[in-house]
Amino acid sequence: MDDIFGRQQAILIADVRVNDRTADIFVQDDGTIGAVGVGIRKEHKGEADLVIDGNGAIALPGLVNTHTHAAMSLLRGYADDMVLQDWLSQKIWPLEAHLTPRDVYWGTKLACLEMIRSGTTAFNDMYFMMDEAARAVDEAGIRALLSYGFIDLFSTEKREAECRATENLVRHIHGMNNPRITAAVGPHAIYTVSPEGLRWCAEFAARERIGIHIHLSETEKEVNDCVAQHGKRPAAYLDACGILTPRTVAAHCCWLDEAECNLLGKRGVSASHNPASNMKLATSRAMPYQWLSAAGANICLGTDGCASNNNLDMFEEMKIAAILQKFFWNNPTVLPAHEALAMAAAHGAKGLGLATGNLVAGAPADIILVSARTACNTPLHNATSNLVYSCNGGAVETTICDGRVLMLDREVPGEEQILAGAAQAAQELVRRSQSG
Ligand SMILES: [Zn+2]
Repeated sequence: MDDIFGRQQAILIADVRVNDRTADIFVQDDGTIGAVGVGIRKEHKGEADLVIDGNGAIALPGLVNTHTHAAMSLLRGYADDMVLQDWLSQKIWPLEAHLTPRDVYWGTKLACLEMIRSGTTAFNDMYFMMDEAARAVDEAGIRALLSYGFIDLFSTEKREAECRATENLVRHIHGMNNPRITAAVGPHAIYTVSPEGLRWCAEFAARERIGIHIHLSETEKEVNDCVAQHGKRPAAYLDACGILTPRTVAAHCCWLDEAECNLLGKRGVSASHNPASNMKLATSRAMPYQWLSAAGANICLGTDGCASNNNLDMFEEMKIAAILQKFFWNNPTVLPAHEALAMAAAHGAKGLGLATGNLVAGAPADIILVSARTACNTPLHNATSNLVYSCNGGAVETTICDGRVLMLDREVPGEEQILAGAAQAAQELVRRSQSG
């Protein structure tokens, strides 16, 4: 049975719900969707190498996680319930100082497994030793936009090293020649990267025609410090450095004011909402969804890393986004379910420059099947409502990326080795950090 996994083949997915209608989906052996429609199984059954009985499942485009640090899955549950600065300086950074490339490999393997199991087929990653993250993604079979976390701490010498590290990763990823894996530039944030570093990132990304992944206005302190130092708010400052482009994904965006939202909309920036992380670390303000939406910004969704979430479940994230927005802005009509689902799928794909995000003929076959025969989908008055407010990633039974089956009926090949490898790497990391 293992030979159905991970290979290129023509697949007929019969009897699923697509946009509230019963339909079949035919996946061509080039990894694209050949047809979606009622009764197309008759036409395509003969061509299919594999037939999947959807059994009434809800078919969705694979979800897109637009902000994470995948390898941080090794830090899951290591430190919680702390003030952001203490959490970083006392727990996270000291442990990260002992990270090895092998840890990044196993952490990213674990993250990819969790994503496959919860219906995510593409993610936007920023971390270190990214060659190893790329190896893990290559093996896992999902898509990723990978960036090296550029942090120069306002030192000229460090900046040069970060520029070289960024160039090396981009060269390495181009050399892999894997269409599922693309490179981006990852200036970490305005408080960790000098203006010269930001400008270099903007120019390099433009020259290479690749994306930019950055943290923006996560905390009020970041805004106040920026105004004190530069006389302008963070979005205007980043714009002056050339960072705000249609290829840019800005994570968090909690403390933007209305003018900054308009600027993001004007520049075509994608804003990645990370509600679980923001609530856990008490940023005390929810991303201004309604202003960004009115400004025409592309609003998408991300989990952030596993140390601040503590999982990569985009179904949970949709629900948390929708209910946080309602609660914080005191308005139950803000961020309705269909918009939350669009943020997690079509908008995320757009933000990462992918052609996925919709189940239509010609699109890459990134498809997930969510069981309809499960408590969270019973009754099925409204599939979108259930997907956002009732289900979690555990309801995903089948995950297909680029036309390749990665999970079928909850089975992912090699899962036990990944869990064992990641658990061991995490244990050894903690042991190394404790022995100094
Ligand atoms: Zn982050």
